[in-house]
Amino acid sequence: MAETFELEIFRYRPEEESEPTFQTYEVPYREDWVVLDAMNHIKDEIDGSLSYRWSCQMGVCGSCGMMVNGVPKLTCAAFLKDYHPKKIRVEPLNGFPVERDLISDMDDFMTKLQEVKPYIIRKEGEEKSLEEGEYLQSPAELAHYKQYSMCINCLLCYAACPVYAIDSSFVGPAAIALGQRYNMDSRDQGRDQRQEVIASHEGIWECTFVGECSVVCPKDVDPAAAIQRAKVSSTVDWFKEVLIPWGRRK
Ligand code: SF4
Repeated sequence: MAETFELEIFRYRPEEESEPTFQTYEVPYREDWVVLDAMNHIKDEIDGSLSYRWSCQMGVCGSCGMMVNGVPKLTCAAFLKDYHPKKIRVEPLNGFPVERDLISDMDDFMTKLQEVKPYIIRKEGEEKSLEEGEYLQSPAELAHYKQYSMCINCLLCYAACPVYAIDSSFVGPAAIALGQRYNMDSRDQGRDQRQEVIASHEGIWECTFVGECSVVCPKDVDPAAAIQRAKVSSTVDWFKEVLIPWGRRK
């Protein structure tokens, strides 16, 4: 008889049920299957009511993030063989309200993402017209921020963050890292605008540098490093503005 594997999956319809439950499903065990394959098998063959997000199945879209045995993972990159023969528990990402089963409400992150203005800002009067062409950048200038531009908005870092778990007002790892990505871009002049959010009470100073955000990040963005860099540059700002008034930052 073909070998099987058990998944214990979080089920919850907030509008109908007072609390979540767990449902166990048995799926064929295949060495080349990831958790998302097993869930798709359940959805297609066993229980069509199971709800979750996924899209690219290749670690690019960032939509299939879930807790797998308590750890934030992209389920398209979590192989069953790494857990076999023990069963696994699949839950929605920590820290976000549940819409249904494994689908989390991402509105809070989307709001914060907009607040850090994740796009190039030019000072008034310093924008180039289309006729003047693009803003040029050297390979070294690109390398300076490229790591922080690899984020796929999967939110595993938020699910791993102990600060966000107790205080959802924290701007959080991915939004701050993305703000830093633009702050470090040689073409950008919008740092002062982003600082209002990034260096606010809910921003970088909330971070206690546990570093789990960088541990779970599937794209090696290293949001913890982005936050610490922002702390350093914000501290330099403070010294310039308060202790050396004639040395105010440009
Ligand atoms: S920083 Fe990493 S873990 Fe966080 S959202 Fe971006 S890719 Fe995902």
